[in-house]
Amino acid sequence: MKRKWLYSFGIVTLMCSTALSGIYIVCDDDGSNPSVTKDHVISVFEEANKVLRQVAMSLPITADQIQYINHSAWKNLSQTNSNYQQIRRDMGSVPRIGSLRIFFIDSLNGSNRIGLNGITSMLITKNASGATFAHEVCHVGGLRDIYPQRDGISITDAGVVKEEYFPQDWSGGYYPSGLLHTNLITRLLMYGYVGPSTIDIPLGRVHGVYRPMVNGQVQPPTKGMVPVGVQDLNRQPQHRDRD
Ligand SMILES: [Zn+2]
Repeated sequence: MKRKWLYSFGIVTLMCSTALSGIYIVCDDDGSNPSVTKDHVISVFEEANKVLRQVAMSLPITADQIQYINHSAWKNLSQTNSNYQQIRRDMGSVPRIGSLRIFFIDSLNGSNRIGLNGITSMLITKNASGATFAHEVCHVGGLRDIYPQRDGISITDAGVVKEEYFPQDWSGGYYPSGLLHTNLITRLLMYGYVGPSTIDIPLGRVHGVYRPMVNGQVQPPTKGMVPVGVQDLNRQPQHRDRD
């Protein structure tokens, strides 16, 4: 019998999928001072693939796939700068090799942000971990950030975990006694901030605060069942070529 890469997780059968990536390390205009090394990029991919293995997904990487691109102005970006949108459009025009377009840069908003996914490309700073990269890949696949609270909307009074908060992942109460739902959120890969162990990918949706996406537009924060799990993940993520 021919062996196939099929894994069974309960009722869901997943097939190992891959996404080829156009990977760019941003350098100064004269080609000096690359934001990171090729070895660094490979280690970030390898770390991310350990996380994405939970959903039978893997991003192949070889050193010759990684290219250098010379743009001093792209190395340290700030979303509040007046030229930010133009720079993002320019980055979105770079040839997309494979399905993803990924730029490794120095910094984003000072050091306040370490990863970002847009419609046409992804930014990963030199301080981002493989888990952060995996988080951004899952955004391309359609998952949303989840928070206990954001911009005045809060579920911090949710109390201990219970079935209605994550019905498809409920394990009949096999949780540490008194585990707060807000603490469970901070373990999820799609938790919107960086935490000490944000790597869990659930099967289904989880109760929390999020900003829904409607017709490609991010909406104000609201409470609800947030798409943070494999059932809402498109494991063939793809950036678009233009905004
Ligand atoms: Zn995010």
